[in-house]
Amino acid sequence: MIVVKTKEEIELMRESALIVSKTLGVLAKAIQPGVTTLELDKIAEEHIRDHGAVPGFLGLYDFPNTLCMSPNSQVVHGIPNNEPLKEGDIISIDCGALKNGFYGDHAYTFAVGEIDAETEKLLQVTKESLYVGIREFKKNNRVGDVGFAIQKYCEDHGYGVVRELVGHGLGKEMHEDPEMPNYGKRGKGKKFIEGMVVAIEPMINMGTQRIKQHRDGWTITTLDNKPSAHFEHDVALVDGKPELLSTFAYIYEALGIESNEEEEFRQKALVL
Ligand code: MG
Ligand code: MG
Repeated sequence: MIVVKTKEEIELMRESALIVSKTLGVLAKAIQPGVTTLELDKIAEEHIRDHGAVPGFLGLYDFPNTLCMSPNSQVVHGIPNNEPLKEGDIISIDCGALKNGFYGDHAYTFAVGEIDAETEKLLQVTKESLYVGIREFKKNNRVGDVGFAIQKYCEDHGYGVVRELVGHGLGKEMHEDPEMPNYGKRGKGKKFIEGMVVAIEPMINMGTQRIKQHRDGWTITTLDNKPSAHFEHDVALVDGKPELLSTFAYIYEALGIESNEEEEFRQKALVL
């Protein structure tokens, strides 16, 4: 069952999403060779609690930490540990926050120092595919339209689109209906309705789409051990159009990156 949100609830969800956005911005400054994912996890937990929110993943389905930290060939759901990040790594950070009864949930894949051009391209294309997908989240479209757009964009670049893990509705629960696969057929699946909020999150592999699950019960890795990227935004359907609730602007501010990629999805100006 899809739970639509009122305008007031969407504003509360924006608040939760922006706490995650700010947290990712703080992490962006802290990511460097030598830092451990557990150190970053502590920074994130403190930052979320300082904003009157609760880490959204900690304890959810018994997940042990605040962040899902998935370096290199890990796709998602990696558990923070004491291993230092190295120059040339990539690290996907997925973060959730719960405030006023609503979840925020979004993710970014960071480069650690300088990365090779092939991996840089994977990050670029995966992020672009997120916006290609968000553009299809509009009145009268269906779940399959978003999935089709993301799949086509990534497969046209020769990448593997993970099938077993999908985006989702978001609200008072971290995972609500509908499931939002990153693959699909045009015109198929549930129809989008005003007031829906979804997390769209392409998980894209440089090589094979196939994945394996580790014995820890969480970590997912590409079957061929090639890199995987993951970007996620929270989006509401407002006046028939996609309205971004989360933002990468705090990350870009921290890293000194100029970008207007989110502008078309924002009906009111973002105040940082
Ligand atoms: Mg997430
Ligand atoms: Mg999600």
